[in-house]
Amino acid sequence: MRKQIVAGNWKMHKNASQTEELLSELISKIPAKTNAQVIVAPTFINLAAAAAKLKNTPIGVSAQNVHQAEGGAFTGEISADMLKSVGVDTVILGHSERRAIFNETDALIANKVDTALKHEMTVIFCFGEELKDRQSDNHFNIVENQLRDGLFHISKESWSNVVLAYEPVWAIGTGETASPEQAQEMHEFIRETIRKAFGNDIADEVSILYGGSVKPENAKEIFSKPDVDGGLIGGAALKADDFLAIVTAI
Ligand code: PGA
Repeated sequence: MRKQIVAGNWKMHKNASQTEELLSELISKIPAKTNAQVIVAPTFINLAAAAAKLKNTPIGVSAQNVHQAEGGAFTGEISADMLKSVGVDTVILGHSERRAIFNETDALIANKVDTALKHEMTVIFCFGEELKDRQSDNHFNIVENQLRDGLFHISKESWSNVVLAYEPVWAIGTGETASPEQAQEMHEFIRETIRKAFGNDIADEVSILYGGSVKPENAKEIFSKPDVDGGLIGGAALKADDFLAIVTAI
C-alpha cells in the first residue's frame, strides 16, 4: 500500500501570529486517525516555530525551498543543515513558481535534490506542464524531461526519500483543476516512466501527489484515481476546515 499524503504549501502567506493560529486550529481539529500523512509548509521565517509546535502531533512540517550549497556567502539563503537543525526534514523542490519566477532550471533543481537527499531530507519534487505544452500536445514530453533532468540521476536507494507532485501549471491558483481522468492519465504515465528506468518496486512504491486547485469539493474524486496518492494543496491549505476536509477525502 503506497503512502497517501496531503501537503499544504502555504507559499508567502501567514505572518507569525497567523501561522500560530492556523497551526493551533489544525492541531485541535485534525481527526485522531487519518488515512493520509499530513504535512504543512509555512514560510521560512515561521518554520522553526512551526516545527516546535508540531512536534509530537500527527502533522509534519516542510520547507518550501532550500539552497543547494552547504553554507557560505549566499545572502538571504537557507541551507539544508539549518532546516534540519530546527527539526525540518522535508522540502518542496521544483515548484512551478520557483521555476518560472525565480528562474530555477532543471539543473539547479537537480543540485538541490542532491543536497536535500545528502542531508536525509524527504524531497517533494514538483513538476508539470504549462498550458501551451498541453495545447500543443507536448505535455508528456515536458513532464518526462523534467523528471529525467531533475531527478533521474538519483540512486535507487534515494527513492524512498522522494515524493512526486504533478502540478500542471495551468491549474495552479487558477481555480481550474485537471479532470480526475487527466490527472490519472498523467500519473500513470509518470509511474510507467519510473518503472522503465528504475523497476517495479520503486514505481509501485513512490507516492505521486496531484496539485492544482484541489478543493474540498473536488478532492475525493481526484484522490479516488488509482495512481493519485494524495495532493499538494495551495490556496485551500490556508483555512483549517478546507484543508482538513481535503485530508479526510483520502
Ligand atoms: P493551488 O496551488 O492549490 O492554490 O492551485 C497548488 C500549489 O501551487 O502547490
